[in-house]
Amino acid sequence: MPDRKPMIAGNWKMFKTVQEAVETATRLAEITASPSEAEVMIAPSFVQLHPVAQALAGSRVALGAQDMFWEKEGAYTGAVSASMLLSAGCAYVIVGHSERRQFFAETDETVNKKIRAALESDLKPVFCVGETESERDSNKTFSVLDKQVRIGLKNIVCDDLEKLVLAYEPVWAIGTGKTATSEQAQEVHAFLRKLIEEICGNSLAKSLRILYGGSVKPNNVEELMSISDVDGALVGGASLDAETFGKIVYY
Ligand code: PEP
Repeated sequence: MPDRKPMIAGNWKMFKTVQEAVETATRLAEITASPSEAEVMIAPSFVQLHPVAQALAGSRVALGAQDMFWEKEGAYTGAVSASMLLSAGCAYVIVGHSERRQFFAETDETVNKKIRAALESDLKPVFCVGETESERDSNKTFSVLDKQVRIGLKNIVCDDLEKLVLAYEPVWAIGTGKTATSEQAQEVHAFLRKLIEEICGNSLAKSLRILYGGSVKPNNVEELMSISDVDGALVGGASLDAETFGKIVYY
């Protein structure tokens, strides 16, 4: 059995004031004080990162950002760099979330630049891929994922990918209450692992964590986590409440 530490990650998207974020993080730190099998991470909005890092100090909850820009610094109004995220207390950064692709013109090429910049700065990318409903319905799931992964990981040294976490998030399952069946999730996760094997070899493919995301809730997390190639969950809506997210962490 490969030694892949499971991960339960929460994406808070554009929710909460700074104060609400600190309250939720403080409660989550309390709830998750006892050990669990899984590593825990939350990704609040940029403005919440630093105060949330302080609220999480001494806890076992890691901090992540929801996006970043690839340049180190400069005249890029509104953008946030990897070193800014590190200085705010982040260890992780979500890259390529479908909402970034849909609403902010993110492409496979910009995702690649962000992943490379994150790895160069020692931030661990959580690289999101996933097909839309119409792509699945027209049997394009695997070709879409193949393209997203190959371009997203282009020109990256395989050794550096040890720090990367891959997240399969079928777009049709995000925020919809629809979850991939165990068969669908396993089929895609196995496909992604094989693809990583093809790109970087067996050792990385075996150790790479592949999370599932899409309407993960306390009542379906156990089944998802029992799937052999699923190494964790990226949770949106159900991560906003500390008690609910705590139930997912201790699945
Ligand atoms: C997400 O945004 O990454 C996500 C999986 O959202 P939800 O859990 O709400 O479907």
